[in-house]
Amino acid sequence: MKRIICFFLLLNTVVLVHAQSAKKHKPIIMLTYDDALQSQLDIAIPQLDSAHLTGTFFLAGNNTTRLTIPAWRRVAQKGYELANHTLFHPCVTGGKGDPAKNSANYTVYSIMREIEGMNSLLYAIDGKTDRTYAYPCCELSVGGVNYVDTLRASGLVKYARIGGGADAVITDSKDLDPLKIPSWGVASNTTGDELIAFVKKVQLSGGAGVFMFHGVGGDYLTTPALAHRQLLTYLQQHRKEIDVLTFKEGMDRVANVKHD
Ligand SMILES: [Zn+2]
Repeated sequence: MKRIICFFLLLNTVVLVHAQSAKKHKPIIMLTYDDALQSQLDIAIPQLDSAHLTGTFFLAGNNTTRLTIPAWRRVAQKGYELANHTLFHPCVTGGKGDPAKNSANYTVYSIMREIEGMNSLLYAIDGKTDRTYAYPCCELSVGGVNYVDTLRASGLVKYARIGGGADAVITDSKDLDPLKIPSWGVASNTTGDELIAFVKKVQLSGGAGVFMFHGVGGDYLTTPALAHRQLLTYLQQHRKEIDVLTFKEGMDRVANVKHD
């Protein structure tokens, strides 16, 4: 799969105001991992297991093969969320090699068909029917047409994740679009201190924060294994003050905040 540079897009996405409405739950951290990478199976998940923390894995179908499906099935059985990142991960940036992979050549019909097909593959792996979604390369359009509302109307996914920078803290559950949930697209070689600083920002806001990881200790857009471990240690040490949830569980909690 092409190296994905999701985090370059929507870098300045911030969800603002109504901070009081989000204070009815503990600060929530959602750890999400994209593209079904081997380093996630080899390094991120063992670290999560040992810290007794959970997360969400946005699988792309072309990286989810007969060699890795048994491992992903075990991941699901342990309580992690498997989520939808399309069958073939089309992107404008990632489609230079073959026009068929370039999202500029897609139609809304073709992307919707891929999302539906990926839901079926995920169902074959874990037997679940409720899905969340991450836009490949954080692109909300294919062939120049925005498909967010078509996706919303389809009912194929409950929540969808977009990109954002290290300021992408969710503090407004009232005006939050469930199909445009911001996240911090973590760049290569981000340090443990930087990862923890994002959590502290979420703690101060009383809101929620979503990490978007790719490789952990390998692959690409790689977060060093040590930095990832340091983040998990911090979350483990502060588990009374912070809820670490899957993307779906976390967004359910954010969405269910009562507004006065
Ligand atoms: Zn991706």
